[in-house]
Amino acid sequence: MNEEFQICIECHEEKVLEDFPIDRRAKTGYKKVCKSCFNEKYKDRNKKVVSPEKVIKEYLNEQVPEVFKALSIQSIAEERDFMQVFIESIQPKAEFINIVNQYKSKNS
Ligand SMILES: [Zn+2]
Repeated sequence: MNEEFQICIECHEEKVLEDFPIDRRAKTGYKKVCKSCFNEKYKDRNKKVVSPEKVIKEYLNEQVPEVFKALSIQSIAEERDFMQVFIESIQPKAEFINIVNQYKSKNS
């Protein structure tokens, strides 16, 4: 059996051609990236298309779990969408806007 080898352009390891995904358009008939690197890349691509809602929830849960919990409870209690509750929570409060306006009038 005549086994052919190819060096993966990602991990730079020499592997048998069967370790590369088939690509009919490629000269060798196989992709230049080995199967494990290809799968790794594909996984990353999938990660990037997750919904913004999921990203925000994960971020809040990791960084400010108490805020995440409060928002979750509020959205459940009020039977509203989590994102609506979240967006409202980051809108500046009226008192904050007043402070900004006072500062602006002092400096104009
Ligand atoms: Zn590789």
